[in-house]
Amino acid sequence: MTLPFLISQNLSDLETTLISNGFERYRAKQALEGLFKGKNLDEINLNTKLKEFLYKNYLINATKIEKVFDSKKSTTKKFLFKLFDNSLVEGVFMEYKHGNSFCVSTQVGCKMGCAFCTSGKNGFLRNLFAGEMVEFLILAQKFTNKKINNIVLMGSGEPLDNFDEVIRFLDCICPQEKNNYSLNISNRNIALSTCGIVPKIYDLCNINQKVSLSISLHATTDEARKKIMKIANTYKINDIIKAAKKYFETTGRKIEIEYTLVKGVNDSFEDAKRLSNLLKGFLVHVNVINLNPTNTNLKPTTKSETYAFCDKLNALGVNATVRRVLGDDVGGACGQLLGKVLKEEAKF
Ligand code: SF4
Repeated sequence: MTLPFLISQNLSDLETTLISNGFERYRAKQALEGLFKGKNLDEINLNTKLKEFLYKNYLINATKIEKVFDSKKSTTKKFLFKLFDNSLVEGVFMEYKHGNSFCVSTQVGCKMGCAFCTSGKNGFLRNLFAGEMVEFLILAQKFTNKKINNIVLMGSGEPLDNFDEVIRFLDCICPQEKNNYSLNISNRNIALSTCGIVPKIYDLCNINQKVSLSISLHATTDEARKKIMKIANTYKINDIIKAAKKYFETTGRKIEIEYTLVKGVNDSFEDAKRLSNLLKGFLVHVNVINLNPTNTNLKPTTKSETYAFCDKLNALGVNATVRRVLGDDVGGACGQLLGKVLKEEAKF
């Protein structure tokens, strides 16, 4: 059985464990504060007996940076992390005027098999633990020497397919009250992206973490969606929109709709009209996305076609913008994670 990660332990649980094993209560806070500052356990002022106890019972600093890819077009960096079981997974660090953002993976691989995405091309290996996701952020902050202010759960994997660990991760980085054993990121600065697992969107309505929700819609009819997203065989567009509206009504958080344009599949003005009808009376923002180069037969629209589609949506009263592309040259843009790395993996 895999040991639990120390960094994702709830403070009171860790205090209870330490006390019942003969250690002082305050050592729990001291250990967690040190780890969140980016220290190794050996650098934290704890006695040898306690360190031995912690090493024996928890995974600590178990994630390593295997390689960092620097974009030549921007300050974006793609991190390749090596996990405790030698699996590889990526994360992307992006700098914006409003702060630094990190795109977190939630699974090694993905089961969802969206046609425009390379993350799931090699299938699904396992869910990531909350502690691993926290360690990605600590490692990226330490490497860049920059504080991460925004999180997007848009890396490889479907976050709602790893629901419990993702919520645990959110609880670790976004506490109810600020403290020194967390990253203290506001839930307003966290966006979770889902391909539309309807029951889990309703579950998300009932938890404390009111994060922004992004729905990867990418089509306006179930038939067209089935051509590019396997999940469309399970959940209908109307049911996804209904669940997203419920999330908005429950949390007050604006919904983002992700819409990747695929030539001849979902890019007609009819699609723009249908999308505006679907989103009527609903506070949403549509991110129109240019299909990034991946190993698929899908064709992207031209830049002018992308902007024309976006203009059409705005003319129909839908708030829409074309998403700025960051990190495409390092395989770090939408849909590219673990595509380029898998090709380059042999070099490591
Ligand atoms: S787009 Fe998201 S849900 Fe779809 S295969 Fe890629 S990682 Fe999985």
